[in-house]
Amino acid sequence: MNRLDKAWKILRQGKVRITLNEEHIRQARVESEDNSKKEYGVRCVNDKDWDCDCEDYLYNYINAKGSYQCKHILAMVFKIAELKGVESQTRLKI
Ligand SMILES: [Zn+2]
Repeated sequence: MNRLDKAWKILRQGKVRITLNEEHIRQARVESEDNSKKEYGVRCVNDKDWDCDCEDYLYNYINAKGSYQCKHILAMVFKIAELKGVESQTRLKI
């Protein structure tokens, strides 16, 4: 399964929890796909870059600084789209 599909699955399983006021979405806790006791912290930095504290992000960030998005970051972006009502306006096809 690719990263986008994994991110979609994470969102659909209700594992993305926004931790700040939804009008100022900047941070979320995202539950691990395979270990429900584990959570990762995703946040938006400087209004443009995203980071996550999972191993995948930390490893790939070094090679693609500022442009890498792990499945947790993608899941949060999907969550934001959902909160903003993207799904109700159009059917997204990826
Ligand atoms: Zn991550």
